[in-house]
Amino acid sequence: MTKAKEKPPVEKGENLAFQAEVAKLLDIVVHSLYSNREIFLRELISNASDACDKLRYAALTQPSLTDGSAYEIHIAPDAKAKTLTVRDNGIGMSHDELVANLGTIAKSGTADFLKGLSGDAAKDVSQIGKFGVGFYSAFMVADKVSVTSKKAGETQGWLWESDGRGTFSVSPTEDAARGTRIVLHLKDDATEFADPTSLRRIVRTYSDHIALPVILDPAPGAETKEEGETPEAPKEETLNSASALWMRPKNEITAEQYKEFYHHVGHAFDEPWHTLHYRAEGAVEYTALLFIPSQKPFDLFHPERKGQVKLYVNRVFISDTLEGMMPRYLRFVRGVVDSPDLPLNISREILQDNPLLKKIQSGIVQRLVKDLKKRAESAEDYAKFWDTFGAVFKEGLYEDFERREELLDLARFTSTHGDGLVSLKDYASRMKEGQDAIYYITGDNAAALKASPQLEGFLAKGIEVLLLTDPIDEFWVPSVGVYDKKPLRSVGESGADLSGIKGGDQKEEEPLGAAAETAVKDLIEKLKKTLGEAVADVKSSTRLTGSPVCLVADSGGMSLHLARLLKQHGEGPAGAAVRKVLEINPKHDVIKKLMAVGGEAFDDVAFLLLDQARIVEGETVPDPAAFARRMSTVMAKGLI
Ligand code: ADP
Repeated sequence: MTKAKEKPPVEKGENLAFQAEVAKLLDIVVHSLYSNREIFLRELISNASDACDKLRYAALTQPSLTDGSAYEIHIAPDAKAKTLTVRDNGIGMSHDELVANLGTIAKSGTADFLKGLSGDAAKDVSQIGKFGVGFYSAFMVADKVSVTSKKAGETQGWLWESDGRGTFSVSPTEDAARGTRIVLHLKDDATEFADPTSLRRIVRTYSDHIALPVILDPAPGAETKEEGETPEAPKEETLNSASALWMRPKNEITAEQYKEFYHHVGHAFDEPWHTLHYRAEGAVEYTALLFIPSQKPFDLFHPERKGQVKLYVNRVFISDTLEGMMPRYLRFVRGVVDSPDLPLNISREILQDNPLLKKIQSGIVQRLVKDLKKRAESAEDYAKFWDTFGAVFKEGLYEDFERREELLDLARFTSTHGDGLVSLKDYASRMKEGQDAIYYITGDNAAALKASPQLEGFLAKGIEVLLLTDPIDEFWVPSVGVYDKKPLRSVGESGADLSGIKGGDQKEEEPLGAAAETAVKDLIEKLKKTLGEAVADVKSSTRLTGSPVCLVADSGGMSLHLARLLKQHGEGPAGAAVRKVLEINPKHDVIKKLMAVGGEAFDDVAFLLLDQARIVEGETVPDPAAFARRMSTVMAKGLI
């Protein structure tokens, strides 16, 4: 984050350029975001409400920051001047905060997110929806925005102004009260936002749940309406219910109100996939209103991403980044938790370790798990959740030891059994006679995995294999190890012996016969000698049916997929440390013929087989020139 450095107060104004990311965002906001422009007001009211929450919290320890007056948000339209003003008496912003907050984007992962935008307006707009433009959405309706702000406890106020085209100015002003006043100079096609009737509707639609009063100031000149027109009441008018939504009884809250609250609290734009609202009594009392989004937040996998559940103590906002509020594997959950039992006057750091907070967390997770179980009854519905957050949820399989069994039951996988998602329970119920393990294969994508030679023998026997394609799978599987007393076993490990498992319409496997056994042994010795250091071992295998060879990891060693993942991140052991085993299919024609070949031709074919196995496994061929030469030699012979 590029926070402005401390500098002496600026006497005169200064002109500054927006951070490149902001300029790009503004360009999209101004030129492409037309649908649903009215949400800018929700964003500004949301910020105003957060600013009041922050001051209320700060004033707990520093009462002199406020004069004790009530927190309020005012919106004041002026149709004549074509302006709309949104004002709060919250914490305000200092000079440096104005520059940092309204000139840069501090969200971690922003740069990466914006880099990923395609330049195609339609696509980018939907992406931006996931990201949330916050304050900058003001430029959808205004061609100039003036922000006057005075930080609580400071004497100097500041005026920030911009037309959203690359630069902004900041100058000192005497005309500032504590808090923030935002004046939108409305575009010609946005004058509806200076109309009290529109504003009433917009605030009721999007911001009814805001816990502070949102007050419509009388429009200037409203008293002097012409005869026959209904005069606008020349008094302040509170537009929203102004009570904390989470404290209201469930049956008084509509789905629409829940959704808008979710948009506010989660800085989100999608529909919640799940809403959980309940009050807990007993060892610790609290109210929770939680949401599982339907869309992946842009920074879900960003290492710095924190939980997004806001903690309130008796309706006083405490923190939205409290470690320990939510386990990491539920970091996509958003919402509010409010408990009167937590102490108000202690620091966030101390609160973090409060045993009551742990109890609350445990209660929340239990409820969420219970709800997920219920929703998992509809496979189609649950798949939506799983496709979006499954990869994160699986972190819980090794992080949340206590709930491992429950979480395992909630996990879903793609497998060789059809196209849908399967649970471990489904898998276990289909296991073949003589099968004692749950088989899985790890890799980058399911389609490639399905075609892997490592699976051939399993497919032939109709043995189901789980196709694990999330990087996280490499970590939870070894740590979990078993499900319902059945070990999880990688098909990519050498030594997979399927001979004891009945299934498929494969004929009884014919034994090779003593002579052939000896020939295979000799061949293996020869291959080992030829391939030398390139492989850790060469083995005969029953897993292969159509392919002559495949590459597997030495049993007990790191999987080839994990080794590749680590390498991509510049970590992990050098290639040689991962022990790769070449498995051969003694019934394949190439292998049979190879037994009769000697000399250089043998060497060429041996290395070609190894390279072929590497390619199928998703690896690169270490010496492409040698590969091409051998290939040509062998082809030339074959073409005679
Ligand atoms: P977000 O609200 O998602 O952080 P915004 O772009 O809307 O993003 O706002 C950026 C920051 O500017 C906020 O996090 C807050 O610190 C500050 N800010 C915005 N509006 C106000 C306000 N009315 N009062 C005080 N600070 C504000």
